[in-house]
Amino acid sequence: MTKYACLTCCKTFSSRRWHPASGTCPDCGDEMVDAGKAFKAPRRRDKKAWAVVAELLRAGFQFHAHGIPRPTRMRDVAAWIKRVRRKPYFGRSKKQRLIDRLEDGELQL
Ligand SMILES: [Zn+2]
Repeated sequence: MTKYACLTCCKTFSSRRWHPASGTCPDCGDEMVDAGKAFKAPRRRDKKAWAVVAELLRAGFQFHAHGIPRPTRMRDVAAWIKRVRRKPYFGRSKKQRLIDRLEDGELQL
């Protein structure tokens, strides 16, 4: 069952309790995010863990049972996103990968 998260309230709702058609969080009215079926919400008071989760979800990474393990520390998130986006299966063309490597200084012309 897909879980939807409100990143403002640090709450999740299963698709049984909340339907995307209803649009926003019933508690605060902010936009809800599809967090994926394997999403395990951190404790509400664990703001650090929620910040990591929010960063990943906002970047478009949901939580799936067989997904690549997600980082759990904020300092690892940016590098993880960068690394994962580089994988060919993430939909980048060969040309785009070359451009990325040039921009990162890995390749020299
Ligand atoms: Zn909310």
